[in-house]
Amino acid sequence: MPVIPLLPLFHRFNSQYFENSLAFDNQPLVKVRWSDNRLKTTAGFYKRKRINGLVDSEIILSKPILSKLSTSEINSTLCHEMIHAWVDRILKKNEIHGPNFLEKMNQINEKEKNFQISVRHSFPIERRELKYIGTCQNCGEKFFYRKRIKNIACKKCCVTFFNGSWNKNCLILFD
Ligand SMILES: [Zn+2]
Ligand SMILES: [Zn+2]
Repeated sequence: MPVIPLLPLFHRFNSQYFENSLAFDNQPLVKVRWSDNRLKTTAGFYKRKRINGLVDSEIILSKPILSKLSTSEINSTLCHEMIHAWVDRILKKNEIHGPNFLEKMNQINEKEKNFQISVRHSFPIERRELKYIGTCQNCGEKFFYRKRIKNIACKKCCVTFFNGSWNKNCLILFD
């Protein structure tokens, strides 16, 4: 399934809502890309890692989920992840959906006419297929799975707080 290019959208939102802080010389500070066809548990995520002391981060949007949805859902997911990037790279704050995130989200939602950003990605995922809901014990985000998986940890939290290593504080527990 064809997907729209993300970079023009990124630059547009960067200038509209982030005072161009997320790009330098027209080069994005974070990579932005579509996932492959396997990312079916979340509409998008922000990932950071540290290589030789340098922070490298990227925004990945789910091709299988978002390619079936409208542009406004793609915009909303991209903006959501851009706020994560902005909190991390510009404010340099260790938070997920904390006060800085929420303030920016509300600011954008007030100005934006065509879509709204929410804390949780709401997307009509194929529920029959993904019927198990796991909750991250650290950030509270919910993820959908085909079956219960033991000892799985929230990638976002592991990446944000534990340098990308598995940590029991961000275990995903099932209802
Ligand atoms: Zn988020
Ligand atoms: Zn988490």
